[in-house]
Amino acid sequence: MNQVPFPKTSFEDTLAKRVVDTGNCAGCGACVVTCPFSCLELIDEKPSLVKNCQVCGICAQTCPRYDWSWPKAEHFVFGREKKVDEDFGVYRDLVVVQSTDDSVLKVCQDGGGVTGILLFALKEDLIDAAVVAGTSNDRPFMPLPKLATTPAEILKCAGTKYCYSPNVLALSEVSKQKKEKVAFVGTPCQIHAVRKMQMAGLKKHTSPIKYLVGLMCSECFTYKGLMEDYVHDRLGVKLNSVKKMNIKGKLLITTDSEVKAVPLAEVKPYARRNCSYCHDFSSELADISAGGLGLDAWTFTMIRTEIGEELFFKAKDSGFIKTRDAKQETNALSLLCKLSKKKKQVQQQGESRSQS
Ligand SMILES: Cc1cc2nc3c(=O)[nH]c(=O)nc-3n(C[C@H](O)[C@H](O)[C@H](O)COP(=O)(O)OP(=O)(O)OC[C@H]3O[C@@H](n4cnc5c(N)ncnc54)[C@H](O)[C@@H]3O)c2cc1C
Ligand code: SF4
Ligand code: SF4
Ligand code: SF4
Repeated sequence: MNQVPFPKTSFEDTLAKRVVDTGNCAGCGACVVTCPFSCLELIDEKPSLVKNCQVCGICAQTCPRYDWSWPKAEHFVFGREKKVDEDFGVYRDLVVVQSTDDSVLKVCQDGGGVTGILLFALKEDLIDAAVVAGTSNDRPFMPLPKLATTPAEILKCAGTKYCYSPNVLALSEVSKQKKEKVAFVGTPCQIHAVRKMQMAGLKKHTSPIKYLVGLMCSECFTYKGLMEDYVHDRLGVKLNSVKKMNIKGKLLITTDSEVKAVPLAEVKPYARRNCSYCHDFSSELADISAGGLGLDAWTFTMIRTEIGEELFFKAKDSGFIKTRDAKQETNALSLLCKLSKKKKQVQQQGESRSQS
């Protein structure tokens, strides 16, 4: 079937006017990576023109915040829309997961479900690389998109960085390094971006992507606000002494010598403004979604698609991960419903504000 040609629109008339200037840009980098003329760069988490736009219209087709249609995306991924009682999207199975490998448990965020599955997929040659978030050498917990090609690199990138990592940008490395089978890990907005690129038929960037592993996400924080102004200046914690940060009702900051627990309300002012437009908590369009949901050292995992299910159970059967029944996790399940509904309400309020 021939592809319908894209409308020849410019960046200025589409994304600049309707996404960036309205504060709605997620900062995912999909427009930057797909511009065939390299006209765009991500500066301060927003795309900016660095060359004259050639008016090809491609960037608008890939932006998850421009002309987004949930029904269209759900039909593309699942062949149907979610039902009204599917509060956190379409899924096949819910499980609680833990890696069986101590080296993963030492560095992962929750149960190491994500890293465990990636390591299995790499070992079995189901993938030849994974798009993940690495960390800057000189700015602790500053995430950077990374194409990890070895088990050591995947392990090094484990653990959550609560600032934004535009992982979609690492897709340019996938083509440069001629990788053919890639797992992509990202926040819900990034999973939307990749799905939109797939729907637009941008094969150069999307054909190597075999699995989409989505993280659950309430919000992301600015590096200056969370790490510099709050953790360093206000709490007096040296950033290079921080070993881990996690959110379990409170923000937990683990250093060489202690675990500081601070109320989430204290860090709320440092959340990125553009996250307030977000309407997906649980990565509803991923093959597999993963979150902590208040669990201690286990990953709450939603298996959504057939290929996600196949990968997951192969990893389980091979002994890379172990599971517990998620139906017993009543607190986690109610948190999942609550946070998913809250994000959808935010969207509705935003829509009525913009219409008034
Ligand atoms: C910004 C952010 C907010 C989150 N908010 C919530 C929440 O509100 N509730 C909840 O239940 N869970 C949330 N999560 C998910 C949670 O922190 C864990 O990532 C998830 O439970 C998987 O745990 P794990 O031990 O299996 O992951 P791991 O095995 O440690 O693997 C985590 C993977 O995520 C990648 N990653 C780390 N930071 C980022 C980033 N900033 N952007 C993209 N990829 C990244 C890593 O490179 C690694 O591949 C959030 C994650 C992020 C990144
Ligand atoms: S993809 Fe690049 S050239 Fe095409 S409209 Fe967007 S910015 Fe312009
Ligand atoms: S594609 Fe992503 S980075 Fe580009 S304008 Fe849209 S949301 Fe922003
Ligand atoms: S809250 Fe939404 S926009 Fe912000 S990082 Fe998470 S998924 Fe992306």
